[in-house]
Amino acid sequence: MAQYNFKCKNCNTTEVVTMPILEYLTLSSENMLYNKKCEKCNTVCEFVRIFNSSSSKISKGKEEIMAEAKEDARKIVNKIKLGDTKAILDVYGE
Ligand SMILES: [Zn+2]
Repeated sequence: MAQYNFKCKNCNTTEVVTMPILEYLTLSSENMLYNKKCEKCNTVCEFVRIFNSSSSKISKGKEEIMAEAKEDARKIVNKIKLGDTKAILDVYGE
């Protein structure tokens, strides 16, 4: 199960819908429209899939990249401390 954000085409209310990924994939092939009862409209409305502004995704990606970079830096520092000249050449060139 995964959560997706949908927006009512009628009143623009956004709702988080939990559905199996398989169902979502079926949905994607049908223009991302999802018919469900809108609480606000009090009727069955067409909901359109909306994508979160990818800001959260990007910041997570950045954090991951930073963590990886730190890990790499730590490894390089350790190698240099151990006098691994090859590692030094890898970083600073010959
Ligand atoms: Zn609505």
